[in-house]
Amino acid sequence: MKFANLKGRTKLVRADGAVDIDQASNGALPADPDEALERWDEVLAWAQTYTGQATEAVPTLQELSAPSPRPRQAFGIGLNYAPHAAESGFEVPKHPFVFAKMASSLAGPYGDLIIRDSESIDWEVEAVVIIGRTARDVDAGAAWDYVAGVTCGQDFSDRAIQWRLGPNRQTTLGKSLPGFGRTGPLLVTPDEYENPDDIELSCTVNGEERQHGRTSELIFNVPTLIEYLTAVTTLFPGDLIFTGTPEGVGIGRTPPLYLKPGDVVESFVAKAGSMKHVVK
Ligand code: ZN
Repeated sequence: MKFANLKGRTKLVRADGAVDIDQASNGALPADPDEALERWDEVLAWAQTYTGQATEAVPTLQELSAPSPRPRQAFGIGLNYAPHAAESGFEVPKHPFVFAKMASSLAGPYGDLIIRDSESIDWEVEAVVIIGRTARDVDAGAAWDYVAGVTCGQDFSDRAIQWRLGPNRQTTLGKSLPGFGRTGPLLVTPDEYENPDDIELSCTVNGEERQHGRTSELIFNVPTLIEYLTAVTTLFPGDLIFTGTPEGVGIGRTPPLYLKPGDVVESFVAKAGSMKHVVK
């Protein structure tokens, strides 16, 4: 199944149209996307048995907002594809390299990316998982049961800030500028994928492909990341995990190539749709 956040209301998106889960459940389910994620088991149980008509047209993707608009926590995983670690000048990490994307950096799948006068802004397309159940001490084998869905993510990064104290020494801050954590447009439930550990993703800048990979190439896959994170911390419904970016980022080039005003960044994760951001 696919779900979307249309103007602050949760929609089940089907081929024949969209269904407002609050209206179609006669108010049994919440419209608000954050509240819907808190009650995800109920939402799924209802959606699996709902046989009514679609009540609205399929929304235009450009109308949609982040599928989990106000998560308590957003994690990022660095250097999680071997060729990307190499292009960045690092060994493959022995354990997941975890950082945070602060709440104020999170935003939706379309619109402007304001870089002010920075000349070190990089792109990183990522598959993002959205947690659907409170998770603590989860075994990898059961980890997908705790995921509400997958969406597209852009982990925009200011490399100058990220490297100001030395390579990757200030990663959280360098990835937490306003609007640097983009997700959307669609939330795709894991069962929609033939193999949820093998999802295609790609990124273009001004129409030129810069990144293209599959999550089967992750060093630490989604189940491993959830086991690792929940051994330390608790994951809550709505939390985001940016799972890492494949090779092809600007810092990996000689000389490095960074975004400039007027550039258009398009990011794609299979079944979740494309995001589009214009650099200003
Ligand atoms: Zn990243």
